[in-house]
Amino acid sequence: MSKRWILLYILLLFLPFLLLLLFLPQEPEPETPPGETVTLYRHETGTAQVLELTDYLWGVVAGEMPASYPEEALKAQTVASYTYLLHRKNTIASNPSSDFGHIGDVCDDPNHCKAYLSPAEAILKWGEDWYDASYERIRSAVTATAGKVLLYQGTAANTVFHAISGGMTEDAADVWGAEVPYLVSVDSHWDREAKGFSSVVTVPLTEFCEKIGQTDYTPGATVLTSGGSVATQVLGDKTFTGRELRSLFSLRSTRFTLKIEGENAVFNVSGYGHQVGMSQYGASVLAANGYTYDQILAYYYPGTSLKTE
Ligand SMILES: [Zn+2]
Repeated sequence: MSKRWILLYILLLFLPFLLLLLFLPQEPEPETPPGETVTLYRHETGTAQVLELTDYLWGVVAGEMPASYPEEALKAQTVASYTYLLHRKNTIASNPSSDFGHIGDVCDDPNHCKAYLSPAEAILKWGEDWYDASYERIRSAVTATAGKVLLYQGTAANTVFHAISGGMTEDAADVWGAEVPYLVSVDSHWDREAKGFSSVVTVPLTEFCEKIGQTDYTPGATVLTSGGSVATQVLGDKTFTGRELRSLFSLRSTRFTLKIEGENAVFNVSGYGHQVGMSQYGASVLAANGYTYDQILAYYYPGTSLKTE
């Protein structure tokens, strides 16, 4: 009996506190959730960095395209960069082993994912004048294309790009061995006007033979891709792919001719990069000729469609 009274007494004692708790102002609602973020793997330091999406995109455009290019080209670059990021995220989500061994959504190694520069890094690399002239140009391209993504059959396309084509872009099947319906060869002959379109690599024959691993350097049959690059090149009795030769001799692209001149092997190279997808220089020419960013993207990635997420 007395136990019950004690319990009641305790309850009454704490009642004011219980009531107070009930009527205390509720915890304020959490702030609007932060915008989309990107986990960026910095390949030089081996660390991961979480960035606001818009800051990531600013840094990719800064790292990947001359900021002096027309605004519509910068916008096309932004959408290509964002779509590429989504494509990677989707690929990793559906096949976790496909992240090529690095953490994060994407890395800043241009040979693996895409280049990235923070504003501070961009200033270090290109100086204050570049920053003053470029910061707002890139920022407004990022703002103007917020949420825009390039889709193929409802999912983010693999929007690869390169600096300068060799006059035509390349078919992904010819470069990476797998067909991608929207990564096909398209005309981009205006790229011939680009500074840095042509380059020459001269290799002494002794070094040439060392690198190809044989003494017979006689050039034989050359097989070209549909875009006009070297698919395969026979040297002596061995067949090399254009990509192998590009890598062995640090050529700017696989669109080259090879001649033996005296004691040297001479490569005449056109374009810069793998030449698949959007030509960045080509995008700048189309933009200068009145193309809008969505028209530029539709041109270099035929069959895709631009959607707002
Ligand atoms: Zn990567």
